[in-house]
Amino acid sequence: MNSIKSDYLVIGSGIAGLSFALKVAEFGEVNLITKTRLEDTNSALAQGGVAAVTTDEDDIELHAQDTFTAGAGLCHTDAVEVMVREAPRRIKELIDYGVHFDMKSDGHFDLAREGGHGMFRILHVADETGKSIQDVLIRKVLKHPNIHIYENHMAVELITDHHVLNNLQSAFNICFGAYVLDEKSSDVKIFRADYTVLATGGASRVYQHTTNPQVATGDGIAMAYRAGVRIANMEFIQFHPTALYEPGSEPFLISEACRGSGGILLNEAGERFMERYDKRLELAPRDIVARAIDAECKLRGDACAYLDMSHLHANKVLAHFPNIASHCQEHLKIDITRERIPVVPAAHFVCGGVMTNLNGQTSMHNLFAVGETAHTGVHGANRLASNSLLEGIVFAHRAAKRVIEKSHTTYNNVLIPDWDETGVTDPHEWGLIRNNRAELQAIMWDYVGIVRSKVQLNRAIRRMTTLYEEIEDYYKRTPVTKDLLELRNLSAVAYLIVRSALRRNESRGLHYMTDYPGQDDKFLKDTII
Ligand SMILES: Cc1cc2nc3c(=O)[nH]c(=O)nc-3n(C[C@H](O)[C@H](O)[C@H](O)COP(=O)(O)OP(=O)(O)OC[C@H]3O[C@@H](n4cnc5c(N)ncnc54)[C@H](O)[C@@H]3O)c2cc1C
Repeated sequence: MNSIKSDYLVIGSGIAGLSFALKVAEFGEVNLITKTRLEDTNSALAQGGVAAVTTDEDDIELHAQDTFTAGAGLCHTDAVEVMVREAPRRIKELIDYGVHFDMKSDGHFDLAREGGHGMFRILHVADETGKSIQDVLIRKVLKHPNIHIYENHMAVELITDHHVLNNLQSAFNICFGAYVLDEKSSDVKIFRADYTVLATGGASRVYQHTTNPQVATGDGIAMAYRAGVRIANMEFIQFHPTALYEPGSEPFLISEACRGSGGILLNEAGERFMERYDKRLELAPRDIVARAIDAECKLRGDACAYLDMSHLHANKVLAHFPNIASHCQEHLKIDITRERIPVVPAAHFVCGGVMTNLNGQTSMHNLFAVGETAHTGVHGANRLASNSLLEGIVFAHRAAKRVIEKSHTTYNNVLIPDWDETGVTDPHEWGLIRNNRAELQAIMWDYVGIVRSKVQLNRAIRRMTTLYEEIEDYYKRTPVTKDLLELRNLSAVAYLIVRSALRRNESRGLHYMTDYPGQDDKFLKDTII
């Protein structure tokens, strides 16, 4: 089979992948593959906004400090400093590209404040910030002659020196591209490139309740792990405190900015309960609010909590949250200016991921990772709200700069074998994929959720081992499909989360263990697998 060759292979079409592609396209050919449609991403769902210092009253040191406080001792100082310092330049670039952040009548940005931020510093486009940025980036990418888009193309495995037919005698692992499933033809193609960039987003679909779209199955992390690349801090999963409680429907987020604007949390009895959990009330960091809702619901036997904005100015609520207002009206017949919104915590963001340095370089030669898939060290044990779109654009920029400047060897003579499907049959056990996926997600929710214990984690790992063996066996006997590949990736990600959680005998940031309720300085380090 002929391989499809480019200078750069970008896997993923969220804010990180698109930003990287646009920058390197000035210097070479880019193949950008994405699992479904270009616009199906976590990025498109980001409502709250992007954090950056844009006023004289604020200071990048304060932004850094808020990030460190949320990160509970595990943020990498250098990565945070790079991110907050470069933030204003990347925002300016987005504006130059054509993003229209909301402005006040006095000509200044209409900045929002979110949990954990000491200042109003969140730039937003109403409550559709991610989509607005992504739309602008997509328009530019589609126009660029050097960027070739492949929709419905799913990366299956990274191609490394373990695959190639000639003996490279290399002292380090090298990435040559990826095997990619073309969903329409069911062929697995070879995409080779001098540089491969994982921009595959998050993995929160590993949980039963999540705010993430269907594409967020941790494929980049799983592929990197299987290729022997270092993965860090997978125990730190952020649960968003307020997903809309609407059993059986696709997830929908009730933005943190609703609380930032003065929204309050009530229990079923109408009591404002946050004062019993944290003196910062609804603006406490996400992990504290999520645990408080979880505890309050368990204590009272309530199915959900409620977010109330009925005391706020109705026109302001509708102007800032038009998307949330129309979704609630359409789906639950709720008028958010008068009625309370039912909410539950849900898996939202993976702080860990594929370990990179400050330029997006992973532990594998010619393999980079950017966006939520990467672990740059900026989030530590807990992500500060609205820092992840920022992380995506800052580190995509740095990775692009790095590959443009770097002199590199092109491995054109390397012999990459075709994808081998000899011996596989089609046993038509599609029910097995659906059932295994549901079982895996339930195990993760019940035993590896917001509050954890050793007993629960060990129980999870025992059940997962059986599932893992079944999935691997099925994978070896069956032609690959998107559903099967996602299930396999989810099981690898689940395993990484539990293994990492079992190593951290303390409670820090998002990782809360009932048997070790306090922080322990012995664990003031990353969990690396
Ligand atoms: C509901 C919601 C609200 C949020 N709100 C905010 C906010 O206000 N501010 C903020 O900073 N952050 C927010 N976040 C987090 C933020 O949106 C994400 O962390 C960020 O957008 C991730 O961008 P990304 O480019 O890394 O990944 P994504 O935007 O998720 O893109 C990943 C891409 O990779 C593709 N892909 C995945 N696997 C494969 C594969 N195997 N082969 C090919 N393609 C693949 C996907 O199809 C997709 O195109 C929110 C997240 C959610 C879910």
